[in-house]
Amino acid sequence: MGNIRSYFRCDVCDQITLVRAQYGWLDRHPIRYTCGHCNILIKGIAILDQENADFRIDIENASLVSPENEADFYIETSGELLTEKLQSFDFETHWYIPPPFFQGLWGMGDPTDPQSSYEKFDEFKQNVISFLYKTENDWPRTRRIKELWINENYEYLAQEIRKILPKKQFPMNNKLEHLRGVHFVTRFFLQDIIDYEHNELIFKEVKTIFEQNPANLIELSKYFQGHFRRYDKRILRVIEHFSEVFRFLIPAYGLTYYHEIPEKLFEEKGMTTAAFEDIKEFYIDTYELVAEILPIIVGYNNLKYRGDFIKMSDAKPRYEFEKLFEIPKGNKVEYVDGTEVFDCLIVKGAIDNKIRNAIGHNTYEFDGVRQLIIYDPVGKNKPSDIRSMYLVQFASKCLSIFQTVIHIWELLYQTEKNLYVSQGMRSVNPNVFNMSLLKQESIRKKEIRKKMKCEKKKKKMIKKQKRSNR
Ligand SMILES: [Zn+2]
Repeated sequence: MGNIRSYFRCDVCDQITLVRAQYGWLDRHPIRYTCGHCNILIKGIAILDQENADFRIDIENASLVSPENEADFYIETSGELLTEKLQSFDFETHWYIPPPFFQGLWGMGDPTDPQSSYEKFDEFKQNVISFLYKTENDWPRTRRIKELWINENYEYLAQEIRKILPKKQFPMNNKLEHLRGVHFVTRFFLQDIIDYEHNELIFKEVKTIFEQNPANLIELSKYFQGHFRRYDKRILRVIEHFSEVFRFLIPAYGLTYYHEIPEKLFEEKGMTTAAFEDIKEFYIDTYELVAEILPIIVGYNNLKYRGDFIKMSDAKPRYEFEKLFEIPKGNKVEYVDGTEVFDCLIVKGAIDNKIRNAIGHNTYEFDGVRQLIIYDPVGKNKPSDIRSMYLVQFASKCLSIFQTVIHIWELLYQTEKNLYVSQGMRSVNPNVFNMSLLKQESIRKKEIRKKMKCEKKKKKMIKKQKRSNR
């Protein structure tokens, strides 16, 4: 990790911003900041050229100038970490301030255990690198496998799965096995950045229901039969969208490794990998999807608490179960309010009707300097309705809403699996399945570590060479 200071003059107002770029382990990352004087968005990309040990920033709407110039503003950028927001430049403060790397490291550690910050940071780094590697190398294959499944093209599906998974564990000889193969491949693709902790709860709850009321569980599975492929299609699109926006979200993703999040963090720290416009579409699309697939949660709650998946709660607004598919999305998401166990699949704070409405109606403003989204969910311009949220908080919502989709996707998977089992389909012993998962993952992680070591060596050698050439 190193950091480089560059001076950029705004093409509009000529004010100069000292951009202190922290470079780390990403070969490239987006840069977004707002000019502190004329408030235009300055966009660019930071490129770390490993082979030539070179780091540069390509930027639009500002020009690189020589360091003799006095800066008006100061900002830090990083592809991986939270950074200081734009502020007026002050030599005393800004020359000696520790770089984002140390600040990020300190945030992740448990203060009573100094070693823990390095471990956490390393875990964060490994997971991001591994997922980015997969988005570039594994996604096309994962997508085509999911497409073959959605299009019910089982012959090619079996052929494609066999190219990557062993036949013994994945015989691909019936629909249950097809489902399981596709699920495995998708889960593997996402596993570096997705928390699968909820799967245990889903498995346990569904198993209990199966033991207590198998007939109604099968009824529920049959009820959703006509929805499965349509849901899959939409989930596929959201996963693809997520793979595209993940680069913008990395500093917010880093927060999940923090030991604790100080109250003032969002006010003081920001991210320069994204502007609001870069990620708002992802939030809206994913919100729509959650609202669409949410009835499955209600169905399971009904079954668990009232013995029948269509028997709705008396304590909530009175709808028929079927009506749930038609009511406005806002009402639908409010229905899942955390009072029943399957509600916990919705990550806290992920489903935010108010910010969703403001984005949908274009009743928001983005203050790029403070990185503050000021929004009006009602759209009537009444001061009492106006709310605000920091960009990093919104980016965190994008991550939690995606995690929510993956939770519900797992519940859908268990539901569809039960349907095929009830039709007499058999699958291989799941223990063999888990063993192969672990083995494959450890091989993959070793490969990535090896690759990184090689690159580090190469970089060192180039540096050495450069020095001796001087
Ligand atoms: Zn300007």
